[in-house]
Amino acid sequence: MQLPGGLVEDGIRRRDCAFRPISGTLELALAEAGETAGNTPRAVTLALVTALGHLGGEPATPQRVAQLCVADRQFLMRELERHLGHTDGWFQVACRGCAAQFDFHLDYAALPVQEAGAAYPRVQVEVAGHKLAFRLPNGADQEALATLPVAEAQSWLLRQLAYQPIAVDALDAQATAAIEAALEAVSPGVVVQVQANCPECGAENRVDLNPYRALSHSSEALLQEVHQIAAHYHWGEAEILALPRPRRQRYLHLIDRARGMAD
Ligand SMILES: [Zn+2]
Repeated sequence: MQLPGGLVEDGIRRRDCAFRPISGTLELALAEAGETAGNTPRAVTLALVTALGHLGGEPATPQRVAQLCVADRQFLMRELERHLGHTDGWFQVACRGCAAQFDFHLDYAALPVQEAGAAYPRVQVEVAGHKLAFRLPNGADQEALATLPVAEAQSWLLRQLAYQPIAVDALDAQATAAIEAALEAVSPGVVVQVQANCPECGAENRVDLNPYRALSHSSEALLQEVHQIAAHYHWGEAEILALPRPRRQRYLHLIDRARGMAD
């Protein structure tokens, strides 16, 4: 799998990465990341650290995963959702034209991914005759932002992204907009909103796609499966969780069959 942006380390842009095979251990860690992390950026870092077998040929440490730009993290979380077997989704839309409810189907593989611009991850912007350099926001920025008051967020982020000390308070709205536009132009992009036409009145509706759906799966069904296998074979929890998912499913099937014969 190739990241649309990539991790730039020692001047080298690394885009190659791969997920681990799905096991109960991974599924449980993902469910618990979603349940316990406290905020979404933190949960995304935990989930990707658990799920990635490598990132640019090196271990996916929390520090390196947090350095990935926001779009790369969204891309990986959506690929993770597909890796977990959820390749498409149904969305319920309330039409903004006629208020009719309709269902909208989406195949995640069909969603386009925008690759990073040539200058990635750095941009130069001329502000009041000075050339200023900025980088794209990453997961570490998002994690810190999640704990800051909203009123301080924008100026804090601009200071973080600047390669040189800048007087953020001296920037006018036009300069801020120019910096944001330059970052936007170089950023890779993942679609987080699609258009759905109402079958009743034809109105165009925008449907928000949560790129972090892989965090929303509960551990309930998995623990039920572990319980069934443990009760039947008397294996330990860690052993059962370590089974690749297809093998776990086969044992559940065998237990079902044995039960069917006994009935
Ligand atoms: Zn309508």
